[in-house]
Amino acid sequence: MGTIRSRKTRQLRDSRAIDQVHGDLRNPKQLAQFKALIPDEDRPANGIYHCVECAKFFEQEHNLREHKRGKNHKRRLRMLKEEPYSQKEADAAVGIGGNAFYENMLLKKEEARLTKLMEKEQARLAKQSKLTGMEVEV
Ligand SMILES: [Zn+2]
Repeated sequence: MGTIRSRKTRQLRDSRAIDQVHGDLRNPKQLAQFKALIPDEDRPANGIYHCVECAKFFEQEHNLREHKRGKNHKRRLRMLKEEPYSQKEADAAVGIGGNAFYENMLLKKEEARLTKLMEKEQARLAKQSKLTGMEVEV
């Protein structure tokens, strides 16, 4: 999905890769560095209306609000919920640095999968009991 661009092109176009945004959210210093690439007065509306997650700037508060309700922003939030790939993870996948890290990672992923399944099942049960509850009322 999307085209692959170099970091330099991204900076020029004022957009950020997902791992960069991960850093921005965790590290205010990195975010400040990113914002300093272009002076605020050269940004739309002096850079006040900034979506950190999408690294986008907007002309008006309204546009930012609409953006935050939109599909692209929500997709970005979902992507950001997942842990970014680290060098450690990449090494582990090719067998560098022992298996402990890799196994731990797999365990964590399995745990997340099970939690998701459980939430789904609970939602289904809640829906079902709501339905049957309504049938009793009728
Ligand atoms: Zn956004």
